[in-house]
Amino acid sequence: MSTNPPDLRPDLAPKARLDATPRSGQPTIGMVSLGCPKALVDSERILTRLRAEGYGISPDYAGADAVIVNTCGFLDSAKAESLEAIGEALNENGRVIVTGCLGAEPEYITGVHPRVLAVTGPHQYEQVLDAVHTAVPPSPDPFIDLLPASGVRLTPRHFAYLKISEGCNHACKFCIIPDMRGKLASRPAHAILREAEKLTESGVRELLVISQDTSAYGLDRKYDVNPWKDGEVRSHILDLSRELGKLGAWVRLHYVYPYPHVRDLIPLMADPENGVLPYLDIPFQHAHPDVLRRMARPAAAAKTLDEIRAWRSVCPDLTLRSTFIVGYPGETEAEFQHLLDWMDEAQLDRVGCFKYENVDGARSNALPDHVAEEVKQDRWNRFMEKAQAISEAKLEAKVGQVMQVIVDDVDDEAATCRTKADAPEIDGNLFIDDGFENLSPGDLVTVEVEEAGDYDLWGRIV
Ligand code: SF4
Repeated sequence: MSTNPPDLRPDLAPKARLDATPRSGQPTIGMVSLGCPKALVDSERILTRLRAEGYGISPDYAGADAVIVNTCGFLDSAKAESLEAIGEALNENGRVIVTGCLGAEPEYITGVHPRVLAVTGPHQYEQVLDAVHTAVPPSPDPFIDLLPASGVRLTPRHFAYLKISEGCNHACKFCIIPDMRGKLASRPAHAILREAEKLTESGVRELLVISQDTSAYGLDRKYDVNPWKDGEVRSHILDLSRELGKLGAWVRLHYVYPYPHVRDLIPLMADPENGVLPYLDIPFQHAHPDVLRRMARPAAAAKTLDEIRAWRSVCPDLTLRSTFIVGYPGETEAEFQHLLDWMDEAQLDRVGCFKYENVDGARSNALPDHVAEEVKQDRWNRFMEKAQAISEAKLEAKVGQVMQVIVDDVDDEAATCRTKADAPEIDGNLFIDDGFENLSPGDLVTVEVEEAGDYDLWGRIV
């Protein structure tokens, strides 16, 4: 372990090295970087992100609106030095965000320095930036900033993915995501809402909420409460969805597990005043309880058909999308037939299906009774035949209905749109091939559905 190079202390860092003399009125951050070269690289990454967002970097305590102290906790002496540096920053500046190795023990820090604004652990760049945004809100300047306020996006201008957490606390046997991405780490609700607000201000009309396990959002934060607007918001999927639904955009929830509290989301989806769409993307993966248990799925014991019935009784227009795995190790013909019967009852609107395959590092590889490839293929065919018949009947029932759609694309032949029941990239489309010339991507249009195909609809502007 090495201690900090002294010239990174904000009171000593030469301006030329930081090359970031703040302009007048620019929100400005100081950085005290302690510890080893890995911590130093973390500090550089944080500063790089802040510079890209338009923050100035102050070479001294006096010029900073807040100070980040990146701590070391390797030895007792390093812990003591970190606590001392936090104390100095509090005395000299007063507004201090703590990150780094010692941040893994937040009570240790707040026990000595209760006035710190936030404590985040090592490599939690996102959380440090969220804490900075809260302490010193960014002040976007489109003429100077390297990045637009809504960030650099790869999606079209009118929809955007909104990641609310990373990682997962489950251990499904066919999945290695928790090994790669770690335990659930939820972003603070107010940071997500601020990002969503920036996106809608920049023209986004549809927010696609994603994570590994959306219904578990906030569990790791113990559903903490943070200030938002004139009130407060809890880091809970219900509160987050309610607030997102007030931003004037469509809000679509992906990767929701059927935990009991999902029932509380359904009234929001039934409320025409709220933007949360009546759409749930729930990766059921299977329906037979024994297969689900062998998969070690969360909510394996949930009575999903009862849940679906309860949801639809509150929100009859609810669209359900899901994915399934057929041919999981040990899956018997009777278990597969149970899945087909379940599909008859569940009447899901949109379905994807995968044939099970081994993934390097997955625990399911070692399960007994792997299913032969030709049996998997046969089950996949039978499953998709059923899913497609259900989807076709559901689409056919929409003919004659009047509904709002969002325009994705306009070319010489038609406007390609989506209904509230269709997520971009994965679901179907509604095409308008008459009187569409004045439409633009992102427009919301009311149409009457005239025709239905296997996966898509056609309609006319009302
Ligand atoms: S499949 Fe299971 S373990 Fe993998 S991310 Fe989803 S819930 Fe987590």
